[in-house]
Amino acid sequence: MGLEDLGYGPWFESKRKALGLEDFAMARVIAEHKGSYRVKDAAGEYLATITGRQMFDALSREDYPAVGDWVAITEHGEKQAIINRVLPRKTVLKRKYSDRFESQVIAANIDRVFVIESFDRDYNLNRIERCLAIADDGGIRPVIVMNKVDLISEAEVNSKISQVKKRFKDIDVIKTSVILENGLHELSACILKAETHCLLGSSGVGKSSLINRLLGSDVIRTNTISHQTGKGKHTTTAREMHFLANGGILIDNPGMREIGMTDSEEGIEEAFKEIRALAERCRFKDCTHEHEPGCAVRDAVASGELDEKRYENYLKLVKEAEYYEMTRLEKRRKDQQFGRFIRKAKEQQKREGS
Ligand code: GDP
Ligand code: ZN
Repeated sequence: MGLEDLGYGPWFESKRKALGLEDFAMARVIAEHKGSYRVKDAAGEYLATITGRQMFDALSREDYPAVGDWVAITEHGEKQAIINRVLPRKTVLKRKYSDRFESQVIAANIDRVFVIESFDRDYNLNRIERCLAIADDGGIRPVIVMNKVDLISEAEVNSKISQVKKRFKDIDVIKTSVILENGLHELSACILKAETHCLLGSSGVGKSSLINRLLGSDVIRTNTISHQTGKGKHTTTAREMHFLANGGILIDNPGMREIGMTDSEEGIEEAFKEIRALAERCRFKDCTHEHEPGCAVRDAVASGELDEKRYENYLKLVKEAEYYEMTRLEKRRKDQQFGRFIRKAKEQQKREGS
């Protein structure tokens, strides 16, 4: 496998020359582990770490290598390498609404993103739109894939597909079923040799199943969804690059949480408009609808106007969203500590006059 088969081309070569990196071997980051990376070049794979120098130069987490990046490496020892430099990125996949500390590249140099939605869940044009916005932000071409067409009638499929086409006029829409093997050839046909692709979509829409079909083997564990809640289990798989028989390259499953979209937040935003409308009549503006007097939401449950199950589900989702917010804050604290660590190390370096 040559570098071209891994997606290398004139664009990257010109960046390499401009940065004076002709003496280094180039490799692509194909997986990210805790504290190290797996990189691949024409000769094979290496376990790679970044240099201390590079850590000092890093202004933010965006400067760190991500899956899909092209990096200049130095080999050392048995299948080990040091990453000296990350080449500029052609495209990036990153959180849409990120603050300074959290801005993090999830994957780099992706040519095409498949935005996956399925017919068995709260089918949601806004979610497709948000995924498209993330692709657009990163300069990546999108294709919309509507999976699980086997679950509803052909008439329903057609009417939903035409809504999607009407809303997103210039974007190709493919309908697929992993079960009936519908549309899989059409999907494969979008995957071009030496181009890099990724699938974006909520947990449970069928990303792993589709990838396994494209790869022709069960490389990825699928994520069986709970049909009661319509929520997947959010299994966190390591992000990794796969090479298809037709020469296409596939990066698996960036999680929706990573790109700043969570099912629970959406559950609150989208599916519970009803409760929000009721909440406007609560006595207290910050009513939690659990114990406050004059709560219009609980009144509606009592009178049967609002389904009790729906109300309970709402409270559950709010708690999950709050938990998620908390872990975000913890993460930010860790980043700040990391910033202090880097600053101290730099000061020490200065003192030692290096
Ligand atoms: P992911 O979380 O997006 O990776 O979704 P998975 O690939 O794990 O699939 C979630 C569930 O949907 C699994 O139980 C799959 O078997 C099922 N599934 C995937 N594709 C289809 C399909 O085309 N039709 C139907 N009926 N089920 C599917
Ligand atoms: Zn209330």
